[in-house]
This record gives sequence, structure tokens and C-alpha cells, in this order.
Amino acid sequence: MANRLTNKIAIITGAARGIGAKSAQLFAQEGAAVATWDVNVERGQAVADAIQADGGTAMFCQCDVTDAAQIENAAAEVVKELGTPNILFNNAGIAVVGELEEISEADWDRQYAVNVKSIYLVSRAIIPLMREAGGGSIINMASESAFVGFPMHPAYTSSKAAVVHLTRSMAVRYAADNIRVNSLCPGTINTELYQEFLAQQPDPGAINREIEAMHPLGIGEPKDIAWAAVYLASDESRYMTGAPMLVEGGILSR
Ligand code: NAD
Repeated sequence: MANRLTNKIAIITGAARGIGAKSAQLFAQEGAAVATWDVNVERGQAVADAIQADGGTAMFCQCDVTDAAQIENAAAEVVKELGTPNILFNNAGIAVVGELEEISEADWDRQYAVNVKSIYLVSRAIIPLMREAGGGSIINMASESAFVGFPMHPAYTSSKAAVVHLTRSMAVRYAADNIRVNSLCPGTINTELYQEFLAQQPDPGAINREIEAMHPLGIGEPKDIAWAAVYLASDESRYMTGAPMLVEGGILSR
């Protein structure tokens, strides 16, 4: 497969590693010009460089997606270097672990700033450009944990539920502008985020086995989610909007 995203210009936030980095690689492989946005300059630049070395088109923008001024600057850089974007993958996210009575107010606010408010801030900057481009596709990163309670992650899971519902409101509002908006809901994916979570556990091996057993298809890989993002970004999903797309190894069927 190739060329599913030819002539598309994509912004992927949180693209320095994990699902975002794999998505950048696959979007470029499918013909999109890709802007990787991240706070991690070295690795965000390396992802863009690797795409260029493979013959694709990519650029890196240093951008904290909780900072409106940095977002405006990064958007302007993309328009100047690549053109008007018509794909936005709001992928950047962090995971605050801890029960409701344990986590600090600052951590709660940071969780919502990175996982939810950033989608408002980045979309607010990019939607006028997409409209100018004649439409586009926005993918908001949620999680299977938007649909079930997890005692150890109330801030994270509720932030992802907010993403699912924010997506619905955006989808209804922007359909007339030919802008589709869907959320992507992965199960557990083996990334550095997941490895960092495991490292905080008293017995990482036991927790890993427990989480693996919860998913009928086991733990996923970044490409499992990146291919779903390619589909949502492409015109193949032209009749989908407002949908929470589950790619969760069957965990919610239990
Ligand atoms: P990751 O930590 O490997 O990558 C996240 C990237 O986001 C990093 O490069 C990080 O630097 C960047 N980032 C963090 N805060 C940022 C900010 N303020 N501004 C710009 N960039 C920022 O994580 P991942 O596992 O690849 O997860 C990516 C997304 O998928 C997240 O939204 C996560 O919640 C979601 N998700 C992950 C899993 C999983 O099991 N890994 C499951 C469901 C959903």
C-alpha cells in the first residue's frame, strides 16, 4: 500500500516517540508531508530527519501543545514550509498515575492541560487553515480507558473520556466545513510511556502479565494504532465523523 495520503499535509503532535513517531513515519510513507510537533527537540527532529532520509517530506516544530503562542508559531512555520495543513493528529498526551486522594492538584491540572486543553488550543489554530484548504481530518487521541473505570488513573481516564466527547461536539460543528473529527481509542500499546508506567510499579513483570491477560489480543504495538490513524486521516474514512474508533485488542469485549 502507498499513496493513501498523497497531496496531504499533516501535523502530528507528540511525534518524537511512540505512537506519534510511528504515525509520522507511516503518514509520510503514504505520501503526506508531515510536521512533527513535540517538546522533545532532539527526538522530534530525528523523526523528521529519518523521514527525509527515506525520501519523504517532513519538518520538525518545537511546540508545547499547552502554549497558545508556541502553537501559533508552529502553525505559521508549517504553512510557510509545507503549505496549508489538512490533517491534524492531536496525539500528544501524558499519563498521571495515582488514586484520586493521592494525586496533587498541580498534576490533575497538568493532566487536563496536556490531554484535553491542548486539543482545543491546537484545533483552534488549525481549523481556520483547514477551512481555507477546503476541509480536512482531525484525529484526537483518546483511549479505551475512556469507557471503563480504573481506580489508579482517575485523572487520565476522565481526561480521555473528555476527548471522546469533545470530538463529538467538534464533529457536529465542523461537518459543514468538510472537516471530519474522530477519536482514536487504543488498548495498551508497548511504548516508552507504557514502560515508564511499568517501571513505577512494585512488580513490573507481574503487572505487565496482568495487563496483557486483560486484552484478548495481548499488548499492541505502535503500528497497530498508526495504521488506524492513516485510515482516519485518509479519504477512505470519508463517511466517519464523531466516532470513537476502538483499536484495543478486544479488552472492552470482556
Ligand atoms: P509517549 O510518551 O511515548 O509519546 C508521547 C509524546 O508526546 C512524547 O514524544 C512527548 O514528548 C510528547 N508530549 C508530551 N507532552 C507534550 C506537550 N505538552 N507538548 C508537545 N508534546 C508533548 O506516549 P505514547 O504511548 O506514544 O502515547 C501517545 C498518545 O496515545 C497519548 O495521548 C496517550 O495517552 C495515548 N495512548 C497511549 C496508550 C499506550 O498504551 N501507550 C494507550 C492509549 C492511549
